Amino acid sequence: YEPPAPAPIRRLQESLINRIAAGEIIHRPASALKELLENSLDAGATTIRVTVKDGGLKLLQIQDNGCGIRQSDLPILAERFTTSKLSTFSDLSKLTTYGFRGEALASISHVAHLSVVTKTRTSTCAYKALYADGKLVPAQRGQSEEPKPCAGNDGTTITIENLFFNTPTRLSALRNASEEYARILDVLTKYAIHNPKVSFTCKKAGSSSPDLGTPSASTVRHAIKMLYGPSIEKELVQVMVKEDTKHEESWSSEVYFTNANYQAKKMVFLLFINSRLVESSRIKRAVENVYTGILPKGTAPFVYLSLRVDPRSVDVNVHPTKKEVHFLNEEEITTQICDALQAKIAERSHSRVFEYQV
Ligand code: ADP
Ligand code: MG
Repeated sequence: YEPPAPAPIRRLQESLINRIAAGEIIHRPASALKELLENSLDAGATTIRVTVKDGGLKLLQIQDNGCGIRQSDLPILAERFTTSKLSTFSDLSKLTTYGFRGEALASISHVAHLSVVTKTRTSTCAYKALYADGKLVPAQRGQSEEPKPCAGNDGTTITIENLFFNTPTRLSALRNASEEYARILDVLTKYAIHNPKVSFTCKKAGSSSPDLGTPSASTVRHAIKMLYGPSIEKELVQVMVKEDTKHEESWSSEVYFTNANYQAKKMVFLLFINSRLVESSRIKRAVENVYTGILPKGTAPFVYLSLRVDPRSVDVNVHPTKKEVHFLNEEEITTQICDALQAKIAERSHSRVFEYQV
């Protein structure tokens, strides 16, 4: 057997490295939107407006009324690992913001045309900046790349155009604009339920009526009613489960879940851990199991679960999109929550039987 001659190892070009890294964080328009939404929420926005063209591939714009970005920070805004949220390694264990790695805007600038208009409360005007490959670029050849003063409201508008224009394989995998739009609406719907005090709207560019709209100062229950429909809300039960201790083990959760009267074809499961929308097949399965024996086979519940654990006990840095998180005592906490759901559902179905007998 003759092994092949080793190919020489070469250093990849900087721009290629960045494009590969960006692809791990920004999978599709909805993942870009999730990053932008989290930035707006981190900035304290109470109004978030999203405009979409072609499922977000042509245009994805998000306008917020948050704190804005200082003019002097604009030159490094889209560089990799520039952030206002983390400065030391130990900060990682007490994060209260969504972001921390300063990678989202950088990643987006490597796979799309990115522009930012932003105004802080103390600034007399807004500034507009354009980015490519992590750096400021001029609007037109021969002009300066310096951010330009312009009119604008307090807050930030981020515009992403032609997503994946320079990664043709990714682009060709995302041909279905209406599916991408559905995913965008799904992410927005979930964040709108978790942040009922914030008003969200989403519309297609050129359309006057929004496809999603929530008021500010609402409640989780009302948001579920608006976005998932009154037939779910009618059968919704709520519990709070928590463990108060003075140290890392303390946690609390709020759960809104349907009772035995509600039977959907597919389970809707919204999981937020420390306000971050995440996925966990383990927790989902455990919650699903609560309903076996309660719901007829082939039917499923709606469950919204918001869990707060000590930031010191969560590791958010296990997945590039932060979609997956690990936390201490996961099994024990899950069991306690599921037991509480079980008890509550049992209580409800007893009272129903009782009503029948009367
Ligand atoms: P991260 O969120 O991890 O810090 P990002 O690349 O998402 O990294 O954002 C980089 C920085 O840009 C943030 O730390 C924040 O200071 C600023 N920023 C981004 N979006 C907004 C926004 N909508 N409003 C205010 N500041 C923002
Ligand atoms: Mg961010």
